[in-house]
Amino acid sequence: MVKIIKDFIPRSNRNRPGNYMKPLYITVHNTANTDQGANALRHVNYVKKPNTATSWHFTVDENWIYQHLPLNENGWHAGDGRGTGNMKSIGIEICENADGNFEKAVENAQWLIRKLMTEQGIPLANVVPHKRWSGKNCPRQLLNRWDSFKAGIATANTGKKATAKPVKATPVKNTSSKPKASKPKKSFNLPSGIIKVTKPLTKGAGVKALQEALAAVYYYPDKGAKNNGIDGYYGPKTANAVKRFQLMNGLTADGIYGPKTRNKLQSLIK
Ligand SMILES: [Zn+2]
Repeated sequence: MVKIIKDFIPRSNRNRPGNYMKPLYITVHNTANTDQGANALRHVNYVKKPNTATSWHFTVDENWIYQHLPLNENGWHAGDGRGTGNMKSIGIEICENADGNFEKAVENAQWLIRKLMTEQGIPLANVVPHKRWSGKNCPRQLLNRWDSFKAGIATANTGKKATAKPVKATPVKNTSSKPKASKPKKSFNLPSGIIKVTKPLTKGAGVKALQEALAAVYYYPDKGAKNNGIDGYYGPKTANAVKRFQLMNGLTADGIYGPKTRNKLQSLIK
């Protein structure tokens, strides 16, 4: 749970046009500023300067979320003029300052997006990269992991019962950032039958194949752990990866591997 601090751009600024907006999309950016100290507060000061031309709704770093504009006003962040990006989307900048914790900032942004989706009734399919509107290589640190970034939004814990009504999973169509050549071609000997977290844990080559298949479509059991958590044990982290995969693919998100999950996985890694 992160605190959101409202510190709005003055109404007299030219980067606060004050056009009425009903937000239909959420647009994700990276600040592209790796300077030491280029955190969210630094961007508050920047965006409030009278001559700043651009504006957006939130800046997120590893500790703070600052809001610069009310959600019913548009900002100039999408680079598409008076198009949908600028006129109908909430702009979120994720900091990448060298002295910050980028992964934590990303987590905070996922939390914020999940919260905004719930409050504004915006579907996960309408959470888009800046690139969608203008072709700009933004968010530059997330485009190559866009699917897993969105999967993290789907499972972000906002304190509300997130699983009560799962967001209708729309397979992510925007794969423009992912080179076609990298599409996994390997075949995985996926186990048949049902696997869930048991005591002791189910283990073996079948579980390992499942973990490798999940990783191939960017649902790592434990990104950051040794071998991304691919260890042949069906533990809570593997169940979580299965759950994220199910959520994003329109399946019952229970973290239990079974025939439907197997079929879906197989269709994606072919
Ligand atoms: Zn951007």
